[in-house]
Amino acid sequence: MITDPICKAHVNEDTAYVTDYGGKKYYFCSPECKNKFDQLEKSVIRLKRNIGEKERISFGKLKKEIINLGICTLCGACVSSCESIAFVNSQPKLIDKCTACGVCYNQCPRTVTREEDLVGKLRFGYAARSAMPGSKGQDGGVVTSLLAYGLEEGLLDCAIVTRKSEDDPWRPEPFIATTADEVLESAGSIYSHSMTMEPLMSAIKQGMRSIAFVGPSCNIDAVHKMQTSPYGFLHLFLRAKVLKFGLFCMDGFEHEGIREFVQAKGMDLNDIESMKIRKGVFEFGMSDGLKSYDLSELDRYRSTSCKFCTDMAAENSDISFGGVGTPQGWSTVLARSSIG
Ligand SMILES: Cc1cc2nc3c(=O)[nH]c(=O)nc-3n(C[C@H](O)[C@H](O)[C@H](O)COP(=O)(O)OP(=O)(O)OC[C@H]3O[C@@H](n4cnc5c(N)ncnc54)[C@H](O)[C@@H]3O)c2cc1C
Ligand code: SF4
Ligand code: SF4
Ligand code: SF4
Repeated sequence: MITDPICKAHVNEDTAYVTDYGGKKYYFCSPECKNKFDQLEKSVIRLKRNIGEKERISFGKLKKEIINLGICTLCGACVSSCESIAFVNSQPKLIDKCTACGVCYNQCPRTVTREEDLVGKLRFGYAARSAMPGSKGQDGGVVTSLLAYGLEEGLLDCAIVTRKSEDDPWRPEPFIATTADEVLESAGSIYSHSMTMEPLMSAIKQGMRSIAFVGPSCNIDAVHKMQTSPYGFLHLFLRAKVLKFGLFCMDGFEHEGIREFVQAKGMDLNDIESMKIRKGVFEFGMSDGLKSYDLSELDRYRSTSCKFCTDMAAENSDISFGGVGTPQGWSTVLARSSIG
């Protein structure tokens, strides 16, 4: 039994309308179905030509970036878009010549082919750094400056930020900052999960209504869920406006793990003035200089949740900030919502 690929009707091979495509015959119940298929074929040819003009991308790139890394979902988009690919032993494999047209790569849900796939929707992007006296941020100090400005101008009632614990150095301690000085105290990044939602809910209970909330993608997602879920607290009961300041994030580590690592390297957390992850290297800043280690050395201390995290740029925030994409001492700033 032969099936018309357009309307799925069963057709008789002898009386059907036929098209030859890619060395294979396709059978149709009517001239309309054949026409639809022929138009589709033209579109695929146009697509191949369009992509081909911009960049030559072969199946090898799909194999290297997606299939070999084990992040292929076996959806079959590549297989269904090219006669040269087939599932062999439950994996997409090249079974014929590849012309490097890039079509398969552009169908795959796991590849990054648009800016939006990588950093989410945004209205404006900036490279910025603070001009505020005394500001020493992690990158351009923009988060701290904006928060200080918002508090001083009365635009914000408070900001939910994270500082280092006094009793246990580098343990993240989230708190409600209501003055520019308190915000300055929280500048810099701590590479461990901070339980930021508790102070947020506490600020709301205290009657604060205009609140800036700072956190990496996973914390921003918690606020976003509470704002948008039909049963979310911020959606159902509360009238507070929460402005989400997202931090780009690719890694978070257990606080105890960082301490163990630092001790194993003969250092003391009390002596560490700054921590920074840059280009696959973890840097610890101390009064006598920097000590750098390959990020892979800290693999075993990475928080389990981070292994499953796919949002690098805090896509659900109103405005997000990171160091990647701009020179050292500057911040990449992505304004996403109108308020952001
Ligand atoms: C865990 C983590 C991982 C990161 N990974 C990357 C990355 O891979 N690539 C990249 O480009 N950028 C990353 N960043 C963001 C980057 O380190 C800077 O926070 C960002 O560029 C803003 O710089 P800034 O100088 O404007 O911020 P600052 O003015 O220094 O302000 C930083 C703000 O972040 C808050 N903060 C610090 N630590 C935490 C925490 N653990 N949880 C919640 N809030 C916190 C502080 O309270 C402060 O308000 C990461 C940040 C964190 C916290
Ligand atoms: S669609 Fe086919 S020919 Fe084009 S790059 Fe992929 S495997 Fe090669
Ligand atoms: S399109 Fe991507 S995810 Fe889907 S089967 Fe092909 S390689 Fe795997
Ligand atoms: S990698 Fe993801 S889960 Fe881990 S701290 Fe960063 S945003 Fe949170």
